[in-house]
Amino acid sequence: MKQSLIDFWKENKIIKSKKLLDAFKKTPREDFILKEHLNQTYTDIPLPILEGQTISQPTTIMLMTQALEVREGQKVLEIGTGSGYQAAILSELVGKKGKVFTLEIIQELVKFSRKNLKNYKNVQVIESDGSLGYEKEAPYDKIIVTATCPEIPKKLLEQLKFNGILVVPVGKFSQEMLVIKKEKQLQIKNLGSFVFVPLRGKYGF
Ligand code: SAH
Repeated sequence: MKQSLIDFWKENKIIKSKKLLDAFKKTPREDFILKEHLNQTYTDIPLPILEGQTISQPTTIMLMTQALEVREGQKVLEIGTGSGYQAAILSELVGKKGKVFTLEIIQELVKFSRKNLKNYKNVQVIESDGSLGYEKEAPYDKIIVTATCPEIPKKLLEQLKFNGILVVPVGKFSQEMLVIKKEKQLQIKNLGSFVFVPLRGKYGF
């Protein structure tokens, strides 16, 4: 099942980075899924976690991560830890010298993800309103948001390094996945329509 997803991405040239495919291979998605959904771990669909939230479908996670162009040693910020699975993939990509900070607003999910991520020493789960970013460790090489935002989040752009990349779904009913490169003028690419849970908090819905 896991291998057939990898073959599908390779054959259709959806995911081109070998490092990213290796990170997927290495990361046990089953460790981030509720028991009752284990038989669907490698089905390409989103699955419910706790508190009405979801872990995204594998293809979405891979497309977003690919767009982020993560390199070894980088400092990455994630908004919306959920199960911790996306953070685990990022952890493999930044390696021992890198660091992943991931923010979660729901206490139950902070506990759940910390338990799931206990072996990932370069990941720190922080309970806070991620719509504000995390000033303390800014600036970041890359920022990824896994809940949909009402607009391009200015607070997060401020905390991104020059030439850094922000991957973020924007919009309520019709959500577009934006890949924003912070240059003199923002370079914005649109990866198309996706469905995410809404961002909460001060600059959320
Ligand atoms: N990346 C996750 C899936 C995220 S689902 C994974 O790999 O499993 C979106 C998550 O964003 C939910 O857990 C939700 O509680 C969280 N969230 C929503 N608004 C938030 C905010 N303002 N700050 C931090 N987390 C938020």
